[in-house]
Amino acid sequence: MKGFTVGRKEDKIGARGIPSCPLFFDDVFIPDANRLGGGFKAVMEAFNASRPLIGARGVGLAQGAIDHAVEFVKDRSAFGRQVSDFQGIRWMLADMQMQTEAARNLVYRSAAMVDAGASAAELAPMAAMAKCFASDTAMKVATDAVQLFGAAGVSAEYSINRYFRDAKVLQIIEGTNQIQRNIISNSMLGRAAR
Ligand SMILES: Cc1cc2nc3c(=O)[nH]c(=O)nc-3n(C[C@H](O)[C@H](O)[C@H](O)COP(=O)(O)OP(=O)(O)OC[C@H]3O[C@@H](n4cnc5c(N)ncnc54)[C@H](O)[C@@H]3O)c2cc1C
Repeated sequence: MKGFTVGRKEDKIGARGIPSCPLFFDDVFIPDANRLGGGFKAVMEAFNASRPLIGARGVGLAQGAIDHAVEFVKDRSAFGRQVSDFQGIRWMLADMQMQTEAARNLVYRSAAMVDAGASAAELAPMAAMAKCFASDTAMKVATDAVQLFGAAGVSAEYSINRYFRDAKVLQIIEGTNQIQRNIISNSMLGRAAR
């Protein structure tokens, strides 16, 4: 297509398995027949269905980090005891799983609303909550998982740091989590999105 070019691949800290490139459209001519109806509104409504998917990535990421951390603390010994014997560690694990289950249920609820054909007004805040809560949970859980690994958590030899790097991306893509909070509070206050 004349005027369309793909830019250099971004060197990202996370989600490195999904290449990202800028797309440039310089004076690209689009015939009327190829235009999408609805424009900006249609794109915003498409996010109502795609944001639960980002939430699902957050839940999967958090669960993966937990599973790795559980294996590690059961195997690792410190001060003559298994790390998993320390109550402070077990409470961290319990919080990580509780937060992940809460995120999972919010993602399932928003996905069920998409399937049931909920209106944009109902779906927008729920999809925003699922995306925001699940990605914030992924970040918190991945941070705790790195902590549970001790020095191994920040070593490139262990893959646990990947969860931490990938979680950060989820808080930014598909609308940052500040924007999700705007959507949720606009809905609560009956205000139109700006
Ligand atoms: C891996 C990756 C993949 C992506 N894929 C795509 C894609 O496929 N298609 C696409 O179009 N885009 C894509 N993006 C772009 C992405 O949607 C934007 O980066 C994101 O929406 C944030 O926009 P920005 O970077 O311009 O931040 P800015 O808008 O410059 O924001 C900077 C900071 O200010 C905050 N902020 C901005 N406005 C407000 C406000 N009103 N209230 C409170 N805080 C605010 C933001 O939350 C952020 O913390 C991708 C980005 C990444 C990292």
